[in-house]
Amino acid sequence: MERTLAIIKPDAVERGVIGAIIQRMEAADLRIREMRLVRLTKADAEGFYAVHRDKPFFDNLTDFMSSGPVVVLALEAPDVIRHWRRLMGVTDPAKAGRGTIRREYGTSIETNATHGSDAPETAAFELDFFFKAAHR
Ligand code: GDP
Repeated sequence: MERTLAIIKPDAVERGVIGAIIQRMEAADLRIREMRLVRLTKADAEGFYAVHRDKPFFDNLTDFMSSGPVVVLALEAPDVIRHWRRLMGVTDPAKAGRGTIRREYGTSIETNATHGSDAPETAAFELDFFFKAAHR
């Protein structure tokens, strides 16, 4: 069994598709082990996306991620990191495959509806970021 951190981003929460996205997780047998609605501060978003701090889009990205509530989830399944990223599709919704969540619900390369950890090490960091006992 493996766990990954999924986020339903502010654009998707605002558009009212939390339920639709969770339905896709459940239909794919990704088990929800933790879930919370949270409002990130700018500093929270900067900490979460620290690996991207040198990217040109860092400031926009952290503004966006702190612009409204998000839903954070710990998903569990065999090979869930890859499985969830396949369901999401690639970063840019315009390039994401038909039937993927980002293609269906994303509206730009930034406002792309969902996040998923990209490797076991990042999943461990990201799960701790939201669900470590001290952070609840
Ligand atoms: P992911 O693993 O598919 O989420 O993509 P990355 O780790 O490369 O980027 C993290 C997040 O930053 C993406 O999900 C987007 O919300 C945002 N992002 C990525 N590339 C760009 C870009 O070129 N411009 C802008 N504005 N945002 C971007």
